[in-house]
Amino acid sequence: MLEVEKLCVRYGKIAAVNGVSFSLNEGELLAIVGANGAGKTSVLNAIMGLVKVHSGRIVFDGVDITHLEPWKRARMGIVIVPEGARPFADMSVMENLEVAAMNIDKAEMKRKMEWVFELFPRLAERKKQPAKTLSGGEKQMLAIARALVGPVKLLIMDEVSLGLMPRLVTEMFKVIERLKREKLTMLLAEQNTKKALQVADKVCVMQNGSIVLEGKPQDLLDSEEIKRAYLGV
Ligand code: ATP
Repeated sequence: MLEVEKLCVRYGKIAAVNGVSFSLNEGELLAIVGANGAGKTSVLNAIMGLVKVHSGRIVFDGVDITHLEPWKRARMGIVIVPEGARPFADMSVMENLEVAAMNIDKAEMKRKMEWVFELFPRLAERKKQPAKTLSGGEKQMLAIARALVGPVKLLIMDEVSLGLMPRLVTEMFKVIERLKREKLTMLLAEQNTKKALQVADKVCVMQNGSIVLEGKPQDLLDSEEIKRAYLGV
């Protein structure tokens, strides 16, 4: 479904991403892990079209999207939940979701709403509440719910568990597991390596703009050396 080939992203002279390649099949969950500044966000943003690709190629559903406008990628079903995503503060939970689901037909919208409220019961209890009065974790959930009510085929999430208290991190990963069971294709950037390894089908470890290691979580965890050097688990 997604092919990233020799991707390079630069900010002026800074080479943030240096020849990154990976592929993601339909229904798979790929986690990109790595320290602050490793280049994870830049990879995700390049796939969404939010940063310019210096060189390399991104192919989605057989279409070369390397230089396509972000809204066209969104129309193809690529959705990103950026780090620290915030819903519209003065709109209620329901209004936030309705805006996000604007482009789908009524019956589909109804089905999607039921689905996200089942995924996030906390939001179901707060439909009329203005988004600005939600807790940090609830805002994060609403940001994901907004991504899900649209026509999503590839869900990209950047550090969705960052800054959440442990109980909410667990809740967040439960939702990710559920989405995985429902065969949604997902790409995550995570600093919480332990959690990422628990849910991912494949893991890429990034360092200084490059993938230094990749494989199935179990294969990586089988090596003490890898665990110590790269995973910190
Ligand atoms: P974090 O988890 O801290 O967001 P990351 O792995 O997602 O880290 P990136 O945010 O992609 O990493 O950053 C990769 C490198 O590019 C870093 O050295 C960062 O300082 C640099 N960088 C990111 N955005 C910009 C920008 N807009 N202008 C200049 N340099 C940038």
